[in-house]
Amino acid sequence: QKTHQLAIIPGDGIGKEVVQEGIRVLDFISKHSPNNFNFETDYFPWGCEYYLEHGRMMDEDGLERLKNYDAIYFGAVGFPGVPDHVSLWGLRIAICQGFDQWANIRPVEFLPGVPSKLNHPDTDTLNWVLVRENSEGEYSGIGGRNFTGRGPGKEVAVQSSLFTEEGCERVIRYAFDLARTRKRKKVTSVTKSNAQQYGMVLWDEVFARVSKEYPDVETDQWLVDAMAANFVLHPEDLEVVVASNLLADILSDLGSALAGSLGIAASANLDPERRYPSMFESVHGSAPDIAGKGIANPIGAIGSASLMLEQLGYAEEAQLVNQSIRDATAAGYLTADIGGNTSTKEMTDAILEALAKVYVKA
Ligand code: NAD
Ligand code: MN
Repeated sequence: QKTHQLAIIPGDGIGKEVVQEGIRVLDFISKHSPNNFNFETDYFPWGCEYYLEHGRMMDEDGLERLKNYDAIYFGAVGFPGVPDHVSLWGLRIAICQGFDQWANIRPVEFLPGVPSKLNHPDTDTLNWVLVRENSEGEYSGIGGRNFTGRGPGKEVAVQSSLFTEEGCERVIRYAFDLARTRKRKKVTSVTKSNAQQYGMVLWDEVFARVSKEYPDVETDQWLVDAMAANFVLHPEDLEVVVASNLLADILSDLGSALAGSLGIAASANLDPERRYPSMFESVHGSAPDIAGKGIANPIGAIGSASLMLEQLGYAEEAQLVNQSIRDATAAGYLTADIGGNTSTKEMTDAILEALAKVYVKA
């Protein structure tokens, strides 16, 4: 049986706290699952503290050192004292783009017992997957400042978006393939192609072309401003939602807030072609406002560990972890962000207890 080699990058703030909890769950699975899930970890101390000491978020040969791992498990980056664009580009985006992890998968699901902001929250109304284009779009990094040489107070900045036909097509196709595996078989595409007439119109055209190959999949196309409202007003209309890098980033925070909190949102940065390791991380950031207090919600990180199990070929274990999260919240274990006073550690304890019940029964 293969031993999976995992690269662990806890990063900054609560990233360090929640990653530990995900590892506890993976440890439990490796000890108790009948399917022989084995793993070994190597820790990489990269992040803002590392930057302040070494002047870099990760080592120069960082991608080279990561490239042979089976997966990367990531906390979060960003801390006061280092500009956010430096920390984000120096580590998270460097890995996502360096390994061409072009599909960022972000499930948004109702959790029993978690107070939702919706009127009729349940698993029928809130059971989506956001598919975020993760390699180009608004985060292409193309642009510049003050290239016109104009003087003080007259600076000019340009931030360009990059949309390639191949980039649009691969992520849209991914969304259609994913929809085929789900109950309703519906893909909703979100753009702002009325205002952004080049890249987003190309996206729309590719969506129309690809959709013809999937006659069994229902489709819908929305502008992002209207979709922001629709998320709140008609969540039951949605199943798989595909959008560009920036738009899906914003919509996924809205989605997780509707489900209850940013702290419960999981994500996978996938290279579906499996040329490079994929990276699994909670959707939230380093949350400096609650870092070090032991109260961060570990559900997003544990859900991301579950997505990692799935990608490594342990779908049954992944399902069990998700079910155990639901059992724990249904039993009333809730961290502060979702209306309770359970600590980070106790939340994981409750999830492990639910997992233990399944394995004892089996
Ligand atoms: P954030 O996600 O860190 O926090 C937003 C709010 O949600 C805060 O009030 C925080 O306390 C709360 N929150 C987030 N996760 C939580 C959890 N697990 N449990 C309980 N509460 C939680 O976003 P921000 O404040 O905009 O950014 C803080 C830093 O994180 C910045 O440096 C930013 O650049 C960085 N960031 C990094 C990533 C990443 O590494 N993928 C993503 C987003 C933001
Ligand atoms: Mn985000």
